[in-house]
Amino acid sequence: MIDFDISIQINPKLAANLNHSIMEVKDIKDTSLAQNPVIGQMMLHNHEQILFCNDNATGLKAIIAVHNTVLGPSLGGTRMWNYNNEMEALTDVLRLSRGMTYKSSVAGINLGGGKAVIIGDAKKLKSEALLRRFGKFVNSLGGKYITAEDVAMSSRDMEIIKMETDYVSGLPVNMGGSGDPSPVTAYGVYVSMKASAKEVFGTDNLAGKKVLVQGIGNVGMHLVEHLTKEGAKVYIYDITEERIKMAVDTYKAEFVAADKMFDLDIDIYAPCALGATVNDETLSKLKCKIICGAANNQLADEKKHGELVMSKGILYAPDFVVNAGGIINVYYELDGYNRERALAHAEKIYDTTWNIIQTAKTQNIPTYAAANKIAEQRIESIARINAVM
Ligand code: NAD
Repeated sequence: MIDFDISIQINPKLAANLNHSIMEVKDIKDTSLAQNPVIGQMMLHNHEQILFCNDNATGLKAIIAVHNTVLGPSLGGTRMWNYNNEMEALTDVLRLSRGMTYKSSVAGINLGGGKAVIIGDAKKLKSEALLRRFGKFVNSLGGKYITAEDVAMSSRDMEIIKMETDYVSGLPVNMGGSGDPSPVTAYGVYVSMKASAKEVFGTDNLAGKKVLVQGIGNVGMHLVEHLTKEGAKVYIYDITEERIKMAVDTYKAEFVAADKMFDLDIDIYAPCALGATVNDETLSKLKCKIICGAANNQLADEKKHGELVMSKGILYAPDFVVNAGGIINVYYELDGYNRERALAHAEKIYDTTWNIIQTAKTQNIPTYAAANKIAEQRIESIARINAVM
């Protein structure tokens, strides 16, 4: 892992929000190309391929980014979003596809990282024709990219895309798919929390531990179930009345108001709603010992807040390690879905979390950096094997 020094090679504007450590910048040879808005961005993190898709008839405007296929075909969801401009969409798809490479690598599955974005308001623009046209573009990559659901896309949309390509996952169970990934994701969060607890409290038993679950959606609710079964004291917060009521009635979880949430005296904070909830403001209040939840991109600024969390003595279980149950679930769809196998693999998130914590401790680095390192080492070692075959 190399700390990224942008000073000589790259347009600082492009690099300003990419302050993570990365593995590939050392390979940039032609620095003049790195000034370009598209190839320059690809070069920053060594993206393999970008496919820009346009179809005037259906209004489809999409970008498919393949970050890395060393471990296998790139897999990641398709997000439909009304981006303000193309650069915003490009930045998002590059960032998300790279994240998928790390997530799959550290989860020990044979998938690379990819992602797609469709530009536009899903409510106005999404149609069968647009989705099928998109499916044809996915198909044109010949399996280098496999799509799945993401924001504003449903399993029904995946069914439509499947009319044009086999390179689609996240299908409903009645179509041989893996269905809702949330139970597997929640199980991964639960075992990751146990591994973190073992490090911090000397036992992985969560009985009596005070846990705040923020976001009682598909994943959050299953997590609350695991926690209450084990005897944890669960506090919850959600913006939806119905979800709050369900968690309180079914699991006797205790509701806490938004303005009180981060003042609570708790052991574990589990962000299961939005990203960036670990930030300057929340860290000035949070009294927990562990942060471990399902939400993506929990650290508002990976480097800054990853280090701040460490200096405050809070153990942060890296989000892309913790929530890998979702990608693990889809992975087992590719050769005939079996939930038992998916759950058994998700259980390994316990050991992965433990190894990351020990690596971070030994090397005195933040846990997110240890996780990145482990992901990069796996990719680099498999790349060496591939090179001799
Ligand atoms: P979901 O949409 O089912 O649930 C999200 C919940 O968060 C909803 O109940 C919503 O009301 C609540 N919420 C929204 N804004 C909130 C706020 N400001 N404060 C508190 N609650 C708020 O989503 P999900 O499938 O449960 O996923 C939860 C998180 O985990 C997301 O960030 C998702 O990207 C991530 N994730 C999910 C999976 C999966 O398998 N579903 C896999 C990996 C990562």
